[in-house]
Order: sequence, then C-alpha cells, then structure tokens
Amino acid sequence: MGELLDNMSSKLGLPALDVSLAFPQATPASVFPPPASDYYQFDDLLNPEEKAVRRKVREVMEKEIAPIMSKYWEKAEFPFQAIPKLSSLGVAGGTIKGYGCPGLSCLGSAIAAAEVARVDASCSTFILVHSSLAMLTIGLCGSEDQKQKYLPSLAQLETVGCWALTEPDYGSDASSLRTTATRVDGGWVLDGQKRWIGNSTFADILIVFARNTSTNQINGFIVKKGAPGLSVTKIENKIGLRIVQNGDILLNKVFVPDEDKLSGVTCFQDTSKVLAVSRVMVAWQPIGISMGVYDMCHRYLRERKQFGAPLAAFQINQEKLVRMLGNIQAMLLVGWRLCKLYESGKMTPGHASLGKAWNSQKARETVSLGRELLGGNGILADFLVAKAFCDLEPIFSYEGTYDINCLVTGREITGIASFKPAILGKSRL
Ligand SMILES: Cc1cc2nc3c(=O)[nH]c(=O)nc-3n(C[C@H](O)[C@H](O)[C@H](O)COP(=O)(O)OP(=O)(O)OC[C@H]3O[C@@H](n4cnc5c(N)ncnc54)[C@H](O)[C@@H]3O)c2cc1C
Repeated sequence: MGELLDNMSSKLGLPALDVSLAFPQATPASVFPPPASDYYQFDDLLNPEEKAVRRKVREVMEKEIAPIMSKYWEKAEFPFQAIPKLSSLGVAGGTIKGYGCPGLSCLGSAIAAAEVARVDASCSTFILVHSSLAMLTIGLCGSEDQKQKYLPSLAQLETVGCWALTEPDYGSDASSLRTTATRVDGGWVLDGQKRWIGNSTFADILIVFARNTSTNQINGFIVKKGAPGLSVTKIENKIGLRIVQNGDILLNKVFVPDEDKLSGVTCFQDTSKVLAVSRVMVAWQPIGISMGVYDMCHRYLRERKQFGAPLAAFQINQEKLVRMLGNIQAMLLVGWRLCKLYESGKMTPGHASLGKAWNSQKARETVSLGRELLGGNGILADFLVAKAFCDLEPIFSYEGTYDINCLVTGREITGIASFKPAILGKSRL
C-alpha cells in the first residue's frame, strides 16, 4: 500500500509525506511515548526477575523496533532483520525450563508478551505463535529427543516455528478437522489443508495436527520446511497484524518419519493443554496494545493544540482518557490473576477463556476511544493508534473467537455446552 503510494508519488514527482516533518505539533510513534498507564502501580505485583524482563523488553521494543514497524506494516512484510533483536529479548520458550529456554514464570512471560504488543502487536503474535504454540507443544507433548533436537535453536530464534490447527472448513469447530495422518512403513503420510497459519510462509518447522486414519483421533506431527508435498501460499490483503505472514498450507502426501510424531498428542484434548497456556498469553496482548495506545494518546493530547489549548484540556477528551486508563487497570488485574491461578495449578479452561474474551472486548473499547482522540491522525499508522486499532481485530477472533471463548466459560459455569453437544465437567489443567 505504502510502496504503491511511494511509486505513484514519485511518478507524479511528489515525495511521500514525512509526518515527523509535516506535522511538528505531535511526535509520531517511531519515537515511542514513555509509559504512562501504570496508574495503580502494577509493577509492585512483579518479582525482581519479572520487573527486569519487563524493563528489558520495553527498552528493546521502544528503541529498536518502534522506528521501523509502520513501514513494514504498510508493506505487509516481515522485518527479518529484527529477528536478532527479538531473540535478544530472551523470551522465546517462555515458561519452558531447560533446552536453552528462559524458564520464565507465567507472569514474566505474560508481561513480556504485553510489552512487545505495546509497541507492535504483529511482533507479539510472531513470538506467541513461535513460542507459546509451536515450542510449547514440543515442550509439553514432545519426546526427550524432540525437545533436545528442536528447542535450543527455536529458543534462540535461529529457527522459527508455526502451529497448524485451523482448516478452511474447520475454524471454531477445529476438533472436526479433516487433515489425515495415515500409517506407512517408518512413519506417517499427511494429506489435507490448513489455513491462517502464522509464520508458516518461512517457518523451519510446522506443528501440524491431523486425524489418525486408524484411531480417528487427532495426532500431532513436526513437519519440516521444504518437505516434499508441502506448499504454503501467503494470505494477502489483511487489515490487521499485517506484518504477520499467515499462510494457507497444502499437504499432499507429506511423509513424516516416526521420530517426528508427537507422542503426547493422542486426542484433541491434548491440544487444550497448549491452548490454555497460550490463551493466557493471548489475553495479555490486548493489555499491551491498550497500554501503547494509552501512552500515545497521553502524549498526543498534551502536544496538539486546538482553540488555543492542548487537546488534553477538554473535558470530553479527559473522560475518554480516564475510561481507557480504567480499562487497563482492570485488564491488568484479570491478566495477573489468571497467571497466578495457572501457577498454582488451579486455572481451568473457563478461566483462561474468560480472560481472553473479556480483555479483548475491553481493549476493543480502549483502542476505539484512542482512535477518536487522535482525530484524523487516528487513521495513520505512523501514530500507532490506527495500527493497533486494526491489529486488535484478528486478536478478537483468533485462539477462539470472543464468542467461542465466552461459550467455553459458559459451559463451565452452567455445565451445559451450548455450541456443540458434549458432556463436559469442570476440568483442571
Ligand atoms: C491473523 C490470524 C492468525 C491466525 N493464526 C493461526 C495460527 O497460527 N494457527 C492456527 O491454527 N489458526 C490460526 N488462526 C485461525 C483462528 O484461530 C480462526 O480464525 C478462529 O478459530 C476462528 O475460526 P474461523 O475464522 O473459521 O471463524 P468461524 O468459525 O467461521 O466463525 C465465524 C463466526 O461465527 C461464530 N461461531 C462459530 N461457531 C460458533 C458456535 N458454535 N457458536 C456460536 N458462534 C459461533 C464465531 O464466533 C464467529 O463470530 C488465525 C486467524 C487469524 C485471523
């Protein structure tokens, strides 16, 4: 989009607008605003290690990543040169202990996800798919050999992972997936199609879920980039998370040796062990996005003047800013409690789903208020808010849509599954 405009402008002899020069009244997000949303001193709830992770991630994201993201977002390209910087955060592998992984607390990993999302939601999705889905599946469901073979290079981001569950015909109803795994000599043959798979256009390893044709149960497999019969096409024209490379995957008789079958995935419920943790992390993305939008608005309203006064002087603007701030305090406490429930072994699928659903709904209100507060500049990616506003939409819908997550909690509190007939009790993770 941006490149197209650049090309058109240069054909017309017009340079593209540089907002930092053309709009001296307010600073764009390439110079990231200082944090201003920790009104209830949430930092007090973090231990020294978690505080250090937060500080480090914030510093790298503000200094190294913020200046380049709006350009890549416009071009819908992945900034490969940023991978070493993202690796230096030391967060890939999250809560996994050993195998070169950081072994962070759940809260440490979550606060890192939020700090990445505060500056750029696409970067946080890239890391979460890689870390909380692909790596965690190997960590929770892989053999000792698989952990030793794959996790160390994934933890350094020397290799990248993706996680393929969704299919064109089975999104919310993923447990009905149709990709098949057929037993052959020395391994398995996979056939089928996957859609929306983040990082898949360049991932070195793909965690693929398929239905075992003998047992009819869902199994998991590690498929390597370039495997014969594997092809990936990039999904274009997204309005959000434009930097994330989502792919449509075709598996045409892809052979997977026995050593790359994940022995810990014997049925669909095994994916829930992974999804529960990753849903906690996803619940922190809306928090981070809202923090960044608030910080941007807080600076912008004091910099830009109308009617001879800064925008921050107007009552309606202050009310919106305070509503955003209130949402963030509440979202942080929900996210914090979720991590503590997980750490104490008491978190249920319903708890995780409520956190993801509620936070993404509150964040939707928050970014929408932020968009209003910036007026016309609220639709420019350069001022962060427009980008964050768009990025929240896919987050509202992935890892279970808002509705499905509400229904998971609804099932738990009523004992009645309203989205699919099933007999389910209140399971603990
Ligand atoms: C940017 C992006 C990244 C993604 N990354 C990945 C990835 O890395 N790996 C992966 O496996 N998947 C990924 N996904 C897929 C994502 O998890 C699905 O999009 C999501 O599960 C919803 O499925 P769907 O898009 O098919 O929507 P649908 O299931 O078609 O839902 C459409 C609407 O119907 C509602 N609905 C559906 N069923 C019910 C029901 N039973 N009761 C009530 N309402 C219902 C939904 O809430 C929604 O509002 C990604 C998606 C996006 C957009």
